[in-house]
Parts: sequence; C-alpha cells; structure tokens
Amino acid sequence: MKPMGPIPPHFADGDTLTIAGHDAEHWIGVAGDTPLFVYDMGEVRARLARLRAAMPDRLDIHYAIKANPHPQLLAAIAPLVDGLDVASGGELARALAVKPASVISFAGPGKRDDELTAAIEAGATLNLESEGEARRALAIGERLGLRPRLAVRVNPDFDLKGSGMKMGGRSSPFGIDAARVPALVGEIVGAGADWRGFHIYAGSQALSAAAIIETQAATVAVARRLADEAGAVPPLVNLGGGFGIPYFAGDEPVDIEAVGAALSETLADADPGTQYAIELGRWIVGECGVYLTRVVDVKESQGERFAIVDGGLHHQLAASGNFGTVVRRNYPVAIAGRMTGEPMAVSVVGSLCTPLDRLGDRVGLPDPRVGDLIAIFLAGAYGFTASPGLFLGHPPARELVVDTAQV
Ligand SMILES: *Cc1c(COP(=O)(O)O)cnc(C)c1O
Repeated sequence: MKPMGPIPPHFADGDTLTIAGHDAEHWIGVAGDTPLFVYDMGEVRARLARLRAAMPDRLDIHYAIKANPHPQLLAAIAPLVDGLDVASGGELARALAVKPASVISFAGPGKRDDELTAAIEAGATLNLESEGEARRALAIGERLGLRPRLAVRVNPDFDLKGSGMKMGGRSSPFGIDAARVPALVGEIVGAGADWRGFHIYAGSQALSAAAIIETQAATVAVARRLADEAGAVPPLVNLGGGFGIPYFAGDEPVDIEAVGAALSETLADADPGTQYAIELGRWIVGECGVYLTRVVDVKESQGERFAIVDGGLHHQLAASGNFGTVVRRNYPVAIAGRMTGEPMAVSVVGSLCTPLDRLGDRVGLPDPRVGDLIAIFLAGAYGFTASPGLFLGHPPARELVVDTAQV
C-alpha cells in the first residue's frame, strides 16, 4: 500500500461518509447520478469565520474565483468576503453578478482589449501585468472617457518558500519587475488614471506558517519601498495568498492563527491610508469538496487490484497528479459507505482509455465491490473547471452545492 493524504477531519468521522448531515448516496439521489462533485458550503462558512478571527481586523479577505467559480457557490461566498479576484473576462462577468465592481480585481497576463474594456466600463480594478497592458488600458480609458482603476502587479525579487507553485524571484509572465514599478506608477498617476496600488503574489500551496509569515513581511516591505520610490501612498496592497491545504501524506494544515498574529505585528505601523488584502482560492474551498464516483468494474492484473470507476481525470485531473505536481502522490480516497474497513492495496482508475487516469495508486481501501461509491477528497478547488472535460467524450460531472443551514 502507498500512503495517501489525510481525509479532512469534518469528513473523517465514522464508518459512513457524511456530507452536510447526509450520506453520499443521498446526495447522489438529489443530483441524479454519478460522478458528482459535492461542495459543502457550511464548511466554507466555518473556515472563513476561522480565517476572519485569525487575521488582523484591517485585512480584507478576497476570494480568487478560479479555484471554484461555480455560480451558486460564488453567490454564497460573495457576502462572506470583501472582494473577488478574477483572471479572465468570463470570470469578471461571473463576479459582477454577485459583487460590486469596486471590490473586483482582474489579474492575469494577456488580457485582450475587449476584456480591458469590460473591466474599465464596469469599474473593476485591473491588476496590470506589463507596461504594454498599462498603455492599452490607459488608451481605452481615454477613448471611453472613463478613468480606469489600475493596480500594478509586482514581480517580486523573492518567492514563497516551500510553495507548490513559485510565482516570484525570477523572470515571469506575471507582473512587472520590481525595479521598473515606480516609473510605471508615475506614468499611471501622470496620465490621470485612478491608481489603486500594488498586487504582489509570490506563490501558491504553501503549508509552512513560517514561510508565509516571512513572505508576507517581505511583501509588505517591498510595497512600502516601491511606494516611497514612486512618491505615492497605495490605496490598496494585495499581499497575494498562497495558503495551502494538506493534500498528501505527511502534510499538515497551515497554522493560520500564527500567520494572523505575525501579520498583525507586521501591519501595526503600516500607513493608515493603505488597505491590505489577501486573496485565497484553494484554502477557502478546496477541503469543502468531495468527488463521488461509482465502481463499475473490479479486476486483478499481475497481483494488482483495480477498482475502475465511472469518473476520472477528465473531471478531477489534479487527483491523477497531472495538474502542477512533479511527483505523483495520492490524494485522500475512501469508500463512502465503508470508511473504516480492513484496508488492502487498491488502485482506483478512471474510465478514460489512458494510463494517466489513475486517481489512487495502491491506496489502502476495504475490498472494493462493483457499485461502491468512491470518495476522492480535496475536490473543492481546481477540480471541475481545471480538468479536460471534453477529453474522450464522457459526460460532464454533476455539481451540487449543499449547505448545512438548508438541510
Ligand atoms: C490562482 C491565483 C490565486 C489563488 O491561488 P490559490 O492557491 O488557489 O489560493 C490568487 N491570486 C492570483 C493572482 C492567482 O493567480
């Protein structure tokens, strides 16, 4: 048997998987069929409450909607956060349906003119990724007779240590190299645009509180230095996010209380004219989601036992190890109706005709049977929309947002 990550504590209780007060078969019944993503909004709400309590009062919390843009989930999260961060014109439209433009920011390289136009017309903030983009945004604002809201995304000269995806400290398609930022701020302010401040995002999926604390302190310091050099007080400094969740064996959750305490100190003497924010995606929604897929076939080959399920990497690519991981490791997996049975080594494979479609590699599960429901945890972020849904022509997964408050 190979190790797998920890089942999130709120799903780990007892022999039968319970989601928002009901077993998995209940939710399959509600949705109509497998495969199914279930998102437990009660769990999202509990996490956000804990995050608020841990973070300094003056810190805004934004949701990065690319982690999970399901419209119903987004509508439920919107009132619980201070802002939404989007990374395409499509996400901008979804965000505008649930939040005012004044608290929406739009990052991402390669924004087309029609996307810049949509953001400027709506009044959303553009997190500029290059000087060229800045000039196009200024020209569009001029043509429309509107004052664009522009923040400068900084490519910092450090990265987030221990993060799964490094976004700083090197050449990058994201942001503008720190040394050139003050000049660009001068150009934006000089052109009469509404300069909104800085966006500095140093990495993703970090579990070490010490690394996050160090990065946040460095980020605040960079923002101050650049503001001094530009001779302007930034209205907003978005410190990025990067809080990870425990996907794999040995992973521990981020100590957000330690992060919050350190950030309170870091911000204690910050300019009162600057609002600070963090933007989180996976930390908010990742652990609230379960992907449920039914065993279609069980077979044995050369001593390896396979449970073949009706889902696969076309719905939940990340669990197959093909979305941003170097080494394939097992996500937490269980049989929904028999969470605690005597384990044996089982490989859970999807129904796609490719050897990549392996959702669990020799994980410890009770003897699987045709008809069993397999639960793959940590499916709330970068699941449905981050998977190649059209590959091989299988039907899409269903998605269900459930809320303890409503059951
Ligand atoms: C993807 C992204 C996020 C969210 O990252 P998570 O790891 O899901 O928290 C936040 N900000 C920006 C700019 C991003 O591109």
